[in-house]
Amino acid sequence: MDVKEQIKILLALQGLDAQIIEHTKQLKALPDQLEEITRDVTQLEEVVNQERSELEQEDKWKREKEEEHEFIETQIGRLRKQMQESTSHRETLALQRQLDSSRKQSGDLEDELLQTMQAVEARRAAIDDHEASLTQLKELLAKEDAEIRKEMKKVQTVLNKVKAKREAGSTGLEPTVKARYDKIASFRHPSVVEAVDGHCTGCNMALLPQLYNTLYYANSMEFCPMCMRMIYLKSAVFGEDEDKTDK
Ligand SMILES: [Zn+2]
Repeated sequence: MDVKEQIKILLALQGLDAQIIEHTKQLKALPDQLEEITRDVTQLEEVVNQERSELEQEDKWKREKEEEHEFIETQIGRLRKQMQESTSHRETLALQRQLDSSRKQSGDLEDELLQTMQAVEARRAAIDDHEASLTQLKELLAKEDAEIRKEMKKVQTVLNKVKAKREAGSTGLEPTVKARYDKIASFRHPSVVEAVDGHCTGCNMALLPQLYNTLYYANSMEFCPMCMRMIYLKSAVFGEDEDKTDK
């Protein structure tokens, strides 16, 4: 087994896995952007529904008052007629008292009706305003939704391409090495890391000199005893020159 070659393949594979992780994260996070607008739409819909039911109550109340007013006005007409026809002074006085009381009732009702009408008008105006905002918000939501879907489609396309590349990326990898990598990658990313200055760069633990020396030969797959990641020495795998340009 050419360990250097295996590590190179693994690093390329790991690069693809990093992209897969990133794109998957993006794909999951994109719909969250719609959450706030969706919440606003729901809240405003609730407000409008509440206002509509209040308007219905006010309308009902207004109709009842109108009927009551009509009834009293009829009564006033009848009392007037009775008064005109009355020949008894006592009866006239009694009718006059009833008429005064009915007129007062009618006047009070007219005041109440006026107030109710104003309240109904104000309510209607508020509903109109809120419905206009709601329409705007829904348009915005639809627009954002379309944009996010488009973006998601784009990310998904890239993700599919990377995944296809990843499928092909393990060509040349020893099955045992691949199995080991897949196992570590399932819970640690990155799972293949450099050892630098006697330390594992995955968990920062100082490696035993004996293990660190082994890395110089790059003849065997080595693992950090602390975090279990595969470790390698850049200069050993890629050659001294590349290592020096880094320093
Ligand atoms: Zn480690």
